[in-house]
Amino acid sequence: MISDYIRVERLPGFSCTMCGECCRDRVIPLYEEDLKRLSDLKDFYEPTTELERYFTGALYKMKLREDGSCFFLDPANKCRIYDRRPNTCRRYPFIVSDEFLLVSISCPGLVWDEESDPEQYKAPSKEISRAIGKVLGILEGNGLHD
Ligand code: SF4
Ligand code: SF4
Repeated sequence: MISDYIRVERLPGFSCTMCGECCRDRVIPLYEEDLKRLSDLKDFYEPTTELERYFTGALYKMKLREDGSCFFLDPANKCRIYDRRPNTCRRYPFIVSDEFLLVSISCPGLVWDEESDPEQYKAPSKEISRAIGKVLGILEGNGLHD
């Protein structure tokens, strides 16, 4: 879930290759704002587990198909709800807050010798960065981080 995120000092550049990997085998947390945007659609979400809720702060997550792909991923690797996709999908592969920058290193669209503007990822990361900030705070407080 968040295991492939690393903490960085500055964000790398990013240019999506449309590989669709971030739409497979992942927990896509859904927050109130996401559910509101998709309120005319049915059967695409389910409750998070206790552990997922702890890490993401979300009560619900996107349903995955049996092959691990997201409910909304089409056969051409395109998102069927792209214009109103969840905030987690909008900010991927970054989670940005005032306190930390996290990057999902499994995204092949990262460009490590260019810089991205962290500001553009702050708003869509709001809920999940708050939840992860709590977890990081606990880990650091216990001397378990790094
Ligand atoms: S994993 Fe990265 S490069 Fe691939 S579709 Fe997702 S954001 Fe784009
Ligand atoms: S909602 Fe769209 S962008 Fe997000 S994981 Fe599903 S297919 Fe991918």
